[in-house]
Amino acid sequence: MSPRRRRRGPLTPPKEVEMRIDNMLALVKDTARDLPGVYRMTSADGEVIYVGKSKALRTRLLSYFRAQFPKDKGARILREAATLEWEILPNEFSALHRELRLIKLLRPRYNVAMKRDARYHAFVRVSRGPAPRFHVVRGAGTDETGTYYGPFRGALQLEEALRELNDVLGLRDCKLDQPMHFADQPDLLPLPSRTPGCIRHEIGKCLGPCVGAVREDEYLARFRAAKEFLEGAHDAPLAPLRAQMEASSDALDFERAAVMRDKIKRLESLREQFARIRFALESLSFTYDVKGEKPEDARTYLIRRGRVRDEVPTPRTAAERRALDQRVAEVLSRTERSNATVPGHEVDEVLLVAAWFRKHPKELKKTKAIEVPKGDVLSA
Ligand code: SF4
Repeated sequence: MSPRRRRRGPLTPPKEVEMRIDNMLALVKDTARDLPGVYRMTSADGEVIYVGKSKALRTRLLSYFRAQFPKDKGARILREAATLEWEILPNEFSALHRELRLIKLLRPRYNVAMKRDARYHAFVRVSRGPAPRFHVVRGAGTDETGTYYGPFRGALQLEEALRELNDVLGLRDCKLDQPMHFADQPDLLPLPSRTPGCIRHEIGKCLGPCVGAVREDEYLARFRAAKEFLEGAHDAPLAPLRAQMEASSDALDFERAAVMRDKIKRLESLREQFARIRFALESLSFTYDVKGEKPEDARTYLIRRGRVRDEVPTPRTAAERRALDQRVAEVLSRTERSNATVPGHEVDEVLLVAAWFRKHPKELKKTKAIEVPKGDVLSA
């Protein structure tokens, strides 16, 4: 082939692909309307390869057919798709929520942007294992079974404040897979070596669970104290810092007193952030009515602590209203800790719900508060 001749092979779809694309285009032109909804593209062997949402489905779907191959992702998806289906939903929130649930369920390989929103937020994750520690992660990571505090903005400040907390309570902050060896552990194996370069135990900032310097129950008690502080239960970690600040001030060491004051401020601000998140999560508890194109399309979302617990057609009769009230009571009867934690698998949903009502404050007027029962465990 002459080097000047244009290679058209991969750019021109095979006849059969071309026919499939033409059929999908005809379907969109004939039947799709500019209403909110979700769509999915499925390959010839039945794999759902992409799920998307739009406020205006017809316009969005038609844009795939104008996309250029191979430059545009849309054109690449379309080439692999054998069928294109869509579902009309009452509004953009319904579409966003349905898209999220479908992506979680089907994990289509082209939906790489699934944790897009979560990546912009920082969370504090509690590690598992014999010597738990807090660590800051961006998004919810891949551990959907973990528990996360958040979402926060500003991972760096968060890390700094957690470092203070670890220092004051002697908690570890080394790698998650660092071997631990507690004082009450039988000496069957030689003591593991610390993280190279870590002198936190020597300088009194870590209890030293890696070198048998603390019993497991002592370490866990300190860890619990840190959690309780973050959940607003007490002020214990601030007491030694306040004492040191006063002592430095009495000794006219104002520089050290200022360092202590800054540490106290960082910890207080961390605790305030946790309190704000607790409040924000609690305030995201309501029913949310969404109107559809026709009265029978309207839906009511039952949202508790930022998570959609149920979705039902909006009641139109007294009996349907009673059924919804019963459902609300059922959901509320489940005891939940009212702290700033979100289960890992629900982080994306909390972010979606919070972002929706932040960007659309008028929508909040359509919500009806639900009363969280007195029996709910309040950890604050
Ligand atoms: S002293 Fe040991 S447990 Fe503490 S942070 Fe360092 S390596 Fe980790």
